[in-house]
Amino acid sequence: MLEIKNMDVFYGDAQALWDVSLIVKEGEIVTLLGANGAGKSTTLRTISGLLKPKKGSISLSAVRLDRIEPYQIILHGLSHVPEGRRLFPNMTVWENLSVGAYIPPAWKDRSGAMEEMMEIFPILKERRDQLAGTLSGGEQQMCAIARAMISRPKVLLLDEPSLGLAPVIVERIFEVIQKINQKGVTVLLVEQNAYIALQIAHRGYVIETGHVVMEGEANRLSQDEYIKQAYLGL
Ligand code: ATP
Repeated sequence: MLEIKNMDVFYGDAQALWDVSLIVKEGEIVTLLGANGAGKSTTLRTISGLLKPKKGSISLSAVRLDRIEPYQIILHGLSHVPEGRRLFPNMTVWENLSVGAYIPPAWKDRSGAMEEMMEIFPILKERRDQLAGTLSGGEQQMCAIARAMISRPKVLLLDEPSLGLAPVIVERIFEVIQKINQKGVTVLLVEQNAYIALQIAHRGYVIETGHVVMEGEANRLSQDEYIKQAYLGL
């Protein structure tokens, strides 16, 4: 469904990704693991069009995403939950969710989509008229995921959903990611918390200093001696 081939990405003259290739098949949860600064967020930003690769290609089904703009990429069914949530703190939960519906097909159907999100995230229903900046970290993460889901994406990119959250909240967030996947949404999940990411993922890739160094089934990765030492602290 989503195929990245031999991608090089730069910030100005500084190269951040080298020859990165990865595939996410329809219906999968694929996790991209790596340490701080490895290039995980850069990969997601390039897929959603915020950065353009200097070399290589990104395709969603038959569409070349690297040749179109971010607002067009959303129209093709890809949505991005950025690192740090990036909600509008002075807008309510409901208003933040409306922002996710700004593309015309989603705007027409926004009430239905927003009600659906309130069912998946009942806490957002309770907090509907509260300013997003006053929510807890976990609630903010749920609001950010719900906002990205309003446009009914086929593929959801998630950047560090566990960041700064207590373990019990992380578990709840990951249950929701699984639920969303079971409803048919394909997921590319960037995580530093390899332990929990490998529990819900079907497959994974490991990125180190801008290079993909390992890939495989999540079960196999979690048994791998190098992964155990470097990423699982075992
Ligand atoms: P983290 O979990 O810390 O966000 P990451 O794996 O997502 O790590 P990236 O943010 O993709 O890593 O960073 C990859 C490389 O690109 C790093 O060397 C980083 O310093 C560099 N980089 C990231 N953003 C910029 C930027 N805006 N300008 C210049 N270099 C950047």
